[in-house]
Amino acid sequence: MTYLVYSEDRELAFQLLGKARELADKTGSSVAAIVVGESQEYVKQGADKALKADLGEFNVETVKEALLEAVKMTEPSVIMIGATKRGKEVAPRVAAALGVGCMTECSSVDLGEDGKIIVERLTYGGSTVAKETSTSTTTVITVPSRSFEKLEPKERTGEIIELTFEAVKPRVKVLKRREKPRSSVDLESAPVIISAGRGFKTQEDLKILDELAEVLGAQISCTRPISADLGWMDQWVGISGKKVKPSLYVACGISGTIQHVAGIRDSQIIVSINNDESAGIHGLSDYSIVGDLYEVIPALAKALKEAS
Ligand SMILES: Cc1cc2nc3c(=O)[nH]c(=O)nc-3n(C[C@H](O)[C@H](O)[C@H](O)COP(=O)(O)OP(=O)(O)OC[C@H]3O[C@@H](n4cnc5c(N)ncnc54)[C@H](O)[C@@H]3O)c2cc1C
Repeated sequence: MTYLVYSEDRELAFQLLGKARELADKTGSSVAAIVVGESQEYVKQGADKALKADLGEFNVETVKEALLEAVKMTEPSVIMIGATKRGKEVAPRVAAALGVGCMTECSSVDLGEDGKIIVERLTYGGSTVAKETSTSTTTVITVPSRSFEKLEPKERTGEIIELTFEAVKPRVKVLKRREKPRSSVDLESAPVIISAGRGFKTQEDLKILDELAEVLGAQISCTRPISADLGWMDQWVGISGKKVKPSLYVACGISGTIQHVAGIRDSQIIVSINNDESAGIHGLSDYSIVGDLYEVIPALAKALKEAS
């Protein structure tokens, strides 16, 4: 039994390797990974076989061929692919080419008593967690960033193998590339986040968050309407936005719909500020403040400043 790992994002590949190593050690199985960049690091991060492939610039057909070749070589029971935009293009193509099952956006991966893989995924817009298993002998799964921890790198023995495969003629021609403006804020790894919802009346008003953000060392985020509809910020939190895992998430003027909550489930402490005591967000919070955000936020910032 082998676990085969691929992500074009090395950090995510290492997180998947951490999980694959844990599962492989439970069953005496092995772990193989397709290498992006330096090979030895993959061995240090838990791979028994680091498969060096000349993938060049990302092309979904090329990566698919490389993975199919790696499958022939390693005969994996589970193919773990990082659920990046690119990984999401690769995974169904590989599953279809192999004629096997594909389970996407798996937030937890474990083994059942029969040794079969069991995954958990959010369904129905994030309102429920589905526990699923696969009936095919090989299964493709995709795993979002930060679902698992990478291992402490350590010297291990592993093979570095050249993976050769038939080059394919891309069926998609890139006509033009435009740089996407990069957000300076990395919400996914922010330890403290303050988030704004439609309780804010104007974009100007968001300034009241600055002082609280400064005293808490927080990044500022928002709900989808604030970003996608009003264009006041460039990224939002939720099922269609960023999934965050801060130790503290302060939701200001946010109602707490399932689409938003799906992105903040893994926060350690949630604090809500909402003037409607029946707002759903209060029920999900560790600390609820029922009040007007225009009064509560400056008062909170002042009190925290004084306390520190
Ligand atoms: C397919 C799909 C995907 C979606 N994905 C996402 C997603 O990823 N992320 C996301 O956020 N949304 C998403 N949405 C939208 C989601 O359904 C909600 O519309 C959105 O989350 C609501 O945002 P909100 O809480 O800011 O606004 P509202 O629901 O309007 O809530 C505003 C809250 O502010 C409170 N309030 C008003 N004034 C004050 C005040 N002065 N002081 C304190 N509180 C006040 C109100 O009581 C209310 O509870 C998605 C929707 C769809 C259909």
